[in-house]
Amino acid sequence: MEVEWLLVIHGLVTLLVLISFLCGQWPIFEGTFIQKIHFFLTFGACDYFRRFVGAMFGQKGSNALFCVEYYCCDRPNPTLQVIYLGIIGAIYYFIVQSSFKYIPGHYLGEVHRYISLLAVGGGILLFLLTSFSDPGTVNAVNVSHYLSAYPYDNIIFSEKECPTCKIPKPARSKHCSICDRCVARFDHHCGWMNNCIGEKNSRYFMAFLFWHFLLCVYGAVAIALVLAGRLKELRVIDILTVYYGIEKSFSSLAPHVVVWLLDSYNTQILIMVFLAIISMLLAGFLAYHTKLCVTNTTTNETFKWKEYLSWKRKVNEAKASAAALKASLGELNHEKKHPVSKWKAFFQRSPLEEVEVVKNNIYDRGVLQNVFEIVVPLSSRRSFLQRKPKSG
Ligand SMILES: [Zn+2]
Ligand SMILES: [Zn+2]
Repeated sequence: MEVEWLLVIHGLVTLLVLISFLCGQWPIFEGTFIQKIHFFLTFGACDYFRRFVGAMFGQKGSNALFCVEYYCCDRPNPTLQVIYLGIIGAIYYFIVQSSFKYIPGHYLGEVHRYISLLAVGGGILLFLLTSFSDPGTVNAVNVSHYLSAYPYDNIIFSEKECPTCKIPKPARSKHCSICDRCVARFDHHCGWMNNCIGEKNSRYFMAFLFWHFLLCVYGAVAIALVLAGRLKELRVIDILTVYYGIEKSFSSLAPHVVVWLLDSYNTQILIMVFLAIISMLLAGFLAYHTKLCVTNTTTNETFKWKEYLSWKRKVNEAKASAAALKASLGELNHEKKHPVSKWKAFFQRSPLEEVEVVKNNIYDRGVLQNVFEIVVPLSSRRSFLQRKPKSG
């Protein structure tokens, strides 16, 4: 039983670490130990390690660590790309090694040997396409067209020049400090892709997320069907009920079946749990990016809107406070002449009540148009070059 418990603990720890690392900054985890683990994994651990290296190796060690950090986090580098290829390759290898001998089985036909290979190949293809495609680099040649295609909203984007590229900065673009270029409709710089996600490759990125979500679900379900097939082929239920006299009910049989599976197929169980966890995380990430696509917003813009709305609320609050102060001074003089009843005062609208601050996204043209803009980027349309170039 010890091995089974170790596997269960391993699964739970993996789940906790993955959720904390990827989702720990979400507002729902605020103040929880998941947020603390996230902080430790993303900042605390690095900080302790930096101090440890400084204490052990002095200034030289700290400088060397700084160089490694600069190379890994601030410069384009293929570290995460290699890790992605390593993970997908290793998972597929372990599935082939542990489960292909049971295909064809009771529930899975031989065709799944080839479908799985095609599915993994398709995933890698989308990864390469997103990694090596142009995200929509803005340069001196196309900047005027981009300026015309993306008008300034004068709320979160106003006319300015990129101080590094020395060209006008079209609305929705951002200078990526890692890639050192301005990218149109900039979403974010993706370390896994070692590329920016922008106007031209958001479609590949979305396809990558969707494909990998399906791939993980397919992998987990296929392994579950392989195991279900083994249960059937080896007549495990019959053996448990007839030879061991266990009652033929789900609650009586389930613990024995789980122990048998963990004993005989622990590699498959581990891979299945891993794929199920990753598919859930991918579903969350896909849902977030789908919401951005249908509302025609980018990750970069969500931060900008958050900043703008919080600033606007503060301004409104300050205005309301000033108005309240003015009103109370006025009332003080008025009350002396005409006292106001307590009930009337209770139902009176306070000037401090927050004036609703709304997000006015001028780029949102309705769900269909927004999705079409992802699938067929503005710069790939004929109308893009025909637009009357607008000087910055
Ligand atoms: Zn730039
Ligand atoms: Zn970048």
